[in-house]
Amino acid sequence: MACILLATSGMSLVAAVVLGVQALSPPSTPHLRPEIMLRPLVEQAAQRSPSIRDLIDRIEASDLIVYVRLRQFAQSNLDGRVALLSRMPAGQRYLMIELACARSDVVTMATLGHELYHAMEIAAEPWIVDASGLTSYYTRHGQRTGDIQGNVTFETRGAEQAGVQVRRELFTTPARQTWTLK
Ligand SMILES: [Zn+2]
Repeated sequence: MACILLATSGMSLVAAVVLGVQALSPPSTPHLRPEIMLRPLVEQAAQRSPSIRDLIDRIEASDLIVYVRLRQFAQSNLDGRVALLSRMPAGQRYLMIELACARSDVVTMATLGHELYHAMEIAAEPWIVDASGLTSYYTRHGQRTGDIQGNVTFETRGAEQAGVQVRRELFTTPARQTWTLK
């Protein structure tokens, strides 16, 4: 699973899109905000994976607002990524998790778990409020995996293990069948 953390450019565009997503949020304003077409998959992931449930609970208890959306990536080997939005009101941090289109449900849910783990890494460090904070944190706690079009990318063992664990939980708790026995 190739999975990266965007630390620099391109965030203004994401911020603009997020304003549109935010307007659609339900009145209860949960901290985890998947786009509408992803909500059934996120609900299924939370039902089948205790790890995902735990990560979602921790995000709801954190200061972070985490958007999740599908995205067609230019790199075909990329399953997902997470970025901190650059223009944030004081005292509020926003993350955007992007999951690759056209993956199996299991891959998408495992990638969601992986990226939610990164969200928790960032939630635990309130001083991370911009790209330089992200770069500083992940330089110390992650492995630098590349520099794609000016975006420095990182990975952590913890997030990789979270993805593997979610996948394991999904295989032990299959999706509910839609047919009935007669
Ligand atoms: Zn990752």
